[in-house]
Amino acid sequence: MEKITKKVVAIIGRPNVGKSTFFNRMVGKRVAIETEIAGATRDRLFGEVSWCGTVFDLIDVAGVETGSKSELTKSMQDGVNLVIENADLVLFLVDWNDKNNEMDKNVARMLKKAGKPVILVVNKADNVKRQEDLEEFKRLGYQNPVPVSAISGKSTGDLLDVIVKELGTNTITPKSKVFDIDLAIIGRPNVGKSTLLNTIIGEKRAIVSSEAGTTRDIIDVEFFHKGKKFLISDTAGIRRPGKISKDTIESFSVIRTYQALKDCDAAILVIDAEEGLVSLDTNILGKAKEWGKSIVLAINKIDLVPGDKDEYMGRMIWRLQKELNFVPWLPIVFISAEQDENLNALLSQVVNAFEARQTVIPQEELDLILANAKESNFQVYNVKSLKQKKANPPIFEITFPAKAKPHFTQIRYIENKIRDVYPMNGTPVFLDNIVLGKKYKK
Ligand code: GDP
Repeated sequence: MEKITKKVVAIIGRPNVGKSTFFNRMVGKRVAIETEIAGATRDRLFGEVSWCGTVFDLIDVAGVETGSKSELTKSMQDGVNLVIENADLVLFLVDWNDKNNEMDKNVARMLKKAGKPVILVVNKADNVKRQEDLEEFKRLGYQNPVPVSAISGKSTGDLLDVIVKELGTNTITPKSKVFDIDLAIIGRPNVGKSTLLNTIIGEKRAIVSSEAGTTRDIIDVEFFHKGKKFLISDTAGIRRPGKISKDTIESFSVIRTYQALKDCDAAILVIDAEEGLVSLDTNILGKAKEWGKSIVLAINKIDLVPGDKDEYMGRMIWRLQKELNFVPWLPIVFISAEQDENLNALLSQVVNAFEARQTVIPQEELDLILANAKESNFQVYNVKSLKQKKANPPIFEITFPAKAKPHFTQIRYIENKIRDVYPMNGTPVFLDNIVLGKKYKK
């Protein structure tokens, strides 16, 4: 299996040049992360674009541009700073109808300072026929402006050609030839992710700091546990140039968190024992379930808990089981990353979860599970068959007779029955229901 490193392309531009429309046009329906995700404090869009075999992530760092002109420049400066550190290419968006805009000149100056590759994109250029029509935009300091119309989609293919050429042929780079578990360590800033990584690898390769979102290197680490090779990419780490507001860091790290989750096979979600679960954590767990990622919950800083630890853990588990009833298969491990407590147990749970996702249940076993389920619950008497379609993660198919209207409780019951025999802890499974060979629509 190959690990793929996607490049990051960022859209920068003053308000009203059509950044959102442009973003949507480029990403289509494949928007991975949208604004409503808890913890993303501002509009910030993030999506994957694929063109002629090249895949890259597109980020619209806009959405903070409200208020007065000076504030506006400041917030754009924040966005640009993030781009400096995190983007491989910048699309500088301007408006064909507004050729001499002062703010564009400011943006151009900032981008010059950033020193990243830039493509000047002239949006709303529905009627541009000749390159000469774009002459005036060259004053911004970029020689080959590309005209597009985000609304109609005109010339976006040409632009994608230019982007792919600029990103070069290494856009998809194999990071590591052979490894077994591609693991992500995710969670809110300051919960102890870097500390955990450091303790695991036994050497200080990542910079740890008590200040949320401080400078650290994005690193790749490989190590072995229980005969399994792990690869960890610390994609959640972001660099912090100059003054970036806490909100900006927070929302950017949220984006990175979801990206890391998307790119991994298995994840450790770290929370702080004193803080408990926050809505971002439940959201992440929901996404892990939806995306079929194996996941283990690590409750960190257990060394800081005062009083009787067993009692505390008992109470916490009781509470979590209620809060997390949508992922009853989630393993929970109490750790101290700093004091190296229980980390072997944590990694063993990750290995178990990873192995669980490869589970292949023989058909005779499934037949038996179904027969037992029918015997013990009248609700599922009409299920025709239960088959496994795929592993990694496991996908099952339940067939109902014609005209049946399967209810989700029936599906859940069968999942529980499968898990009674094959617990598959730490791994979501999917159950598709088929009615007379057709997919049942709710
Ligand atoms: P990250 O932002 O999630 O990577 O968090 P860091 O690893 O930078 O840790 C944030 C702060 O929590 C640092 O001051 C760490 O020393 C501290 N910390 C991390 N893990 C533990 C732990 O298990 N126990 C205690 N007492 N402190 C911890």
